[in-house]
This record gives sequence, C-alpha cells and structure tokens, in this order.
Amino acid sequence: MIVVMKPKATKEEIDKVKSVIKELGYSPHPIEGILRTVIGVVGDERGKPHDLDSLKQLQGVEKVVPVLQPYKLTSREVNDETSVFNVDGVAVGDSKIPIIAGPCSVESEEQIMTIAASIKDSGASMLRGGAFKPRTSPYAFQGLGKEGLELLVKAKEMTGLPIVTEIMSPDDLELVEEYADVLQIGARNSQNYSLLRHVGKSKKAVLLKRGMSTTISEFLMCAEYILSEGNSNVILCERGIRTFETATRNTFDLNAIPVLKEKTHLPVFADPSHGTGYWQYVIPVTLASIAAGADGVIVEVHNNPEIAVSDGAQSLKPKTFKNLMEKAAPVAEAIGRTV
Ligand code: PEP
Ligand code: MN
Repeated sequence: MIVVMKPKATKEEIDKVKSVIKELGYSPHPIEGILRTVIGVVGDERGKPHDLDSLKQLQGVEKVVPVLQPYKLTSREVNDETSVFNVDGVAVGDSKIPIIAGPCSVESEEQIMTIAASIKDSGASMLRGGAFKPRTSPYAFQGLGKEGLELLVKAKEMTGLPIVTEIMSPDDLELVEEYADVLQIGARNSQNYSLLRHVGKSKKAVLLKRGMSTTISEFLMCAEYILSEGNSNVILCERGIRTFETATRNTFDLNAIPVLKEKTHLPVFADPSHGTGYWQYVIPVTLASIAAGADGVIVEVHNNPEIAVSDGAQSLKPKTFKNLMEKAAPVAEAIGRTV
C-alpha cells in the first residue's frame, strides 16, 4: 500500500501518518517528491486485523492505494515523477543530464588528477574511479583500496566533482562511505542481497548496475532491497547484458531505458563503456541512450588507455570525451534537456 499525502500536507500530518503506520505493525517509507510526499507501507498484511484503508481518515491524506507490482517502493505507482535528489550539489533525475566520467581504476595520483582536470574542463558532472575492483581473475589488479579513495578525494578537492566509486563488500562500507559521494554496486554484485541491504542503510546515494543476466523485473527487486532499508537515493544503471553476440563485450540493452522509465520513478543511467566494450561505440550508444530518455551517463575516460590497468579498450581519450560532450548537447536539447 502507499499513502499519498495532499500537496500541502504539513510535517506534523506526515509524522502522524508515519506513527500510525508503525502502531499498526508496518514500516513507513516516505518518499519526498517535488509536489507531495508519498509514504510506502511495507510489511506482511496477513494476520493483521487492521484495514490500511483507515489511514484515509488521517489529516493531510489524499488517498491510500495498493501497489500491484512486486517491487513496491521502487514502482512508478508510488511516484509519478522521476525522483530528483542531490549529490553534493549535482541534481540527479532532473532535466540536466549528469555525465559521470573517469578511469575504470584509479592507478596513480598523476593519472587521476590528469583525467579529473580534463573531464571537468569538458563539462563532466562527477568523477568515477574504482579503488576496489571486481576482476574476473584473482591475479589481476584488484585496485589501490584506501590509497585510491584518498586520490579520488584529492581530485575532488581540485575539481569539485563528486566521487562515484565501487563498494564490493559490507566490510568496506564504513571506509568507502567516508570518501565517496555515490556508492557504486557493480554488475557482479547486483544481486548480492546482503550488500544491497547494507548500502540501503547508508545515507550516501547508490548507483546500482544491472547484473549481466538480470531481467528488468529482477533488477527492480534489487533496487527494492536498498529502498526497503530506507535509502531511496538510488540510480539504476543499464550496463549491457550477456547474449550470444561476441562482436561487443556485452549487449547494451537500449530497450531497458524506456522500460525502466515506465516502471520506476528512480533515475535511470546508461553505461555505454561496459555496454559495448570498445571505445569507438561509446559515443553513438551515449547519444542513443540520451535520446531514449536516460537521466545520466557514466563513461570510462583514460589519458593513456593503451597502458590502462583495466578496461583500456573501452576507455575514451580526454579529447574524444570532449567530443562526446559536444555531440551530446544537441541530442539532449532535442528532447528538452541539457547536459
Ligand atoms: C566498472 O564500472 O568499472 C565495472 C566494473 O562495471 P560493471 O560492474 O558494470 O562491470
Ligand atoms: Mn571498468
């Protein structure tokens, strides 16, 4: 069930509804929209004597409606508008499309500072960079860990760009939270429900990648794990799925963008770097994603992709990234947005 508050409902009225929901044995999950607050009511209704319809009697309540989808708080039924939230000064979900850029892995101070300065100059909104890397081989570079996080902060101090970085284990949450503005959950951990619950308790925004064999409805249930713990600042990110095709690293599922936009109020981002695996396809797939309604893009950029420790083949050089920004602007404009 969701309780839709009237646009002018006061904080006291909202607090009263939350406390009655708790008294009835459920947990309230408020989502603050631009126009109004809606409160998700989560809990097992079986065996409970009370009818939640009675919540309609409370001051400030407009209506009480059932959510039909298995994902409740994530569903667009809860919120007609795309959720907008602030990541250290950058609005996510709004008409300006944030472009997140940076290397796959943080490798050295010189590398991250050079890349951060160049993407800032080209108009990127946030800096990405992995300090804890999920690698297919245990013998491959695993990331600089804490040192990588410290380098990201140095780059933020220079550019002002908020940091997006991956968290792989609940054990690292306290550490990564201290440095990151957005906690990235990678494709390989997309259905790691324990990790999802942990980041659901965090105050930091989460960028949740789609798993490589995760259906759209499974993906939405992954997000539901995070929202059900109280964190509704979640970005969904399409990053390509496994298919029979071998010409590209993954098959970027462009369909997922309008489908997700229809099913959820959460902002939907595109990752054309992992979605294609080759730098030369990154610009066209970025433009297609924006045209399809993506609320943001995350791309890999490296100053020296030939010798990158990870994902060099799909990384744009700074000059090509500048070109991406220039080409993205008129596409965004055509659909009434900006980059
Ligand atoms: C990454 O962003 O570098 C990464 C490992 O992505 P994914 O989890 O989508 O493979
Ligand atoms: Mn990568």
